[in-house]
Amino acid sequence: MPHEERPFFIIANWKMNKTIREALAYVEKLPELLQGVHLPVWLAVPFTAIHSVRAALPPEIHVGAQNMNDASSGAFTGEIAAAMITEAWGDFVVLGHSERRQFFHESDEFINKKVLRAFQSSLRPVLCIGEGFDQREAGETEAVLKGQLEGCLRGVSAEQMALCIIAYEPIWAIGTGKTATPELVAQTLAVIRSIAEAQFGEESAANMPIVYGGSVSPSSAEALATADGVDGFLIGTASLDPEGFAKIAHMSENVRSNITEL
Ligand code: PEP
Repeated sequence: MPHEERPFFIIANWKMNKTIREALAYVEKLPELLQGVHLPVWLAVPFTAIHSVRAALPPEIHVGAQNMNDASSGAFTGEIAAAMITEAWGDFVVLGHSERRQFFHESDEFINKKVLRAFQSSLRPVLCIGEGFDQREAGETEAVLKGQLEGCLRGVSAEQMALCIIAYEPIWAIGTGKTATPELVAQTLAVIRSIAEAQFGEESAANMPIVYGGSVSPSSAEALATADGVDGFLIGTASLDPEGFAKIAHMSENVRSNITEL
């Protein structure tokens, strides 16, 4: 599928922010702020807010979780299973976020089990991959991304692959205010797509959405939305404010409608 035919996703990652009350105050404003936006908008919210946020929003806005365990149930104190997310009406899950890898020592192998569980449970995975600053400086970016993609997607079929959203999030750009340039994003996404092509074949790789994440904000979104091959954004800090988040969605909508009209 050519780039302009793939949907452009606007995905919020609230991280460990917002109580149920705060979340509801946010989503009360959102539909009106998003008037005129036709791009898919997804919110990854804290577990506790999934059900209330889902119930408060129109169905076209998707609601999901930021993590889950690979087991279906059992003695894993403090963990959340896929069925708990789906019964709370979540329909996607962010997996392998660099904060999970860094602070909770999640390996590609563990993330792979979660990805397989997500597919079994009809949750669409948003799989995060990305290199650290030192790895990029040492010229290791491609090897790091290849290792993460192959490690996290082992056993995933080509059909499932087209439903998986890859979030390319260079670690040095997350929460730092340092945004990657559109050129760097375009180059790296091409590398990711070619790695996926070798693993899953041309058609699945061409259909696979790859979004960018890392300090996307109302001031950087417009330029980044023009980066070749980018299929949306995963937005942390700037998604916490509904006005700023909606601004990014509107900017992306404008850029995308110009691209598809060309
Ligand atoms: C993220 O948490 O996935 C993220 C990209 O955060 P930020 O936008 O704050 O860099």
